[in-house]
Amino acid sequence: MGRVYNFSAGPAVLPEEVLREAAAEMLDYQGSGQSVMEMSHRSKVFDKIIKDAEQDLRDLLNIPDNYKVLFLQGGAHLQFAMIPMNLMKNRVADYIVTGQWAKRAFKEAQKFGDAKCIASSEDKTFSYIPDCSDLPIDDNADYVYICENNTIYGTKFKTLPNTKGKDLVADVSSCFLSEPMDVSKYAIIYGGAQKNIGPAGVVIAIIREDLITEDVLPGTPTMLQFKTHADNDSLYNTPPCYGIYICGKVFKWLKKQGGLEVMKERNEKKAAILYDFLDQSKLFKGTVEKNSRSLMNVPFVTGDADLDAKFIKEATEAGFVNLKGHRSVGGMRASIYNAMPIEGVEKLVEFMKKFEAENA
Ligand SMILES: *Cc1c(COP(=O)(O)O)cnc(C)c1O
Repeated sequence: MGRVYNFSAGPAVLPEEVLREAAAEMLDYQGSGQSVMEMSHRSKVFDKIIKDAEQDLRDLLNIPDNYKVLFLQGGAHLQFAMIPMNLMKNRVADYIVTGQWAKRAFKEAQKFGDAKCIASSEDKTFSYIPDCSDLPIDDNADYVYICENNTIYGTKFKTLPNTKGKDLVADVSSCFLSEPMDVSKYAIIYGGAQKNIGPAGVVIAIIREDLITEDVLPGTPTMLQFKTHADNDSLYNTPPCYGIYICGKVFKWLKKQGGLEVMKERNEKKAAILYDFLDQSKLFKGTVEKNSRSLMNVPFVTGDADLDAKFIKEATEAGFVNLKGHRSVGGMRASIYNAMPIEGVEKLVEFMKKFEAENA
């Protein structure tokens, strides 16, 4: 069987070239006589893998020197706790709740202090990004938190919130490396790798150095202190070695494509193919307000649950897989991350046109 077009929200499609390279190196990584899965994380060979990965990521995002790059574990979910544990000096933080992941992060932060929801789009099933130009930011807030791209609902912040001078923390799991970003506008950028970067099991955090201190909430475990990982170049304990190796390959692939400007153009083109079709379709419609649309996750519905199910079934049979929407939204969702080729989106739209004609 050949490869399908995989529209999964995560774990998600990876560049075929990366998978082929990894396959070729599976038994013998560059003459080491071992798989990367088998080698010591203290070896010279692995040291080069993790250092190269960090440097390539720095090159791609133009990460300023006063930011640390950490390769962590525990999924984005562990950051929901690590961020307050490391940053909540005043025990106050402001959260903008634009979806389920932001809400989970907000709830988790409430365990550690006075986390406030200062804006939300829950009133309309998170189908838009609220106006964040003049929010009631607390004078004592240790940070303002956003989920920049809302994987489940398909929305994205087009402009960052006005944090009134407070540090901005962003979960970018599902838009990481989809376009250039100005790292200096953030205190922390973090994301799980399994959406747009690599396999599950790796979390990448980019943290401004002055935020990495011993001044954390009392009782914060060693493993949950940013400083532990920063002081040890992400090698305090055994890191997710194989995952980091694949992320490194994806970074090299992105550089080869021309970097994040090129990815942005490509991602805009792919998203436009799908949104333009949805905007004129008589059967399918997008669920997100136009000015909040994500380039990465595109939810859509027919308005009829049975027809949605029929579409998903027939699409799967035709080789377009993982199009079922998140259980909290229903309908369909096409995740079109960096590694989804343009022809995958073009062929999906052709298939949707055919389905529309047959089910008019
Ligand atoms: C998938 C996702 C999460 C959850 O990630 P885990 O690695 O499963 O903890 C959090 N935030 C965003 C934006 C996501 O897309």
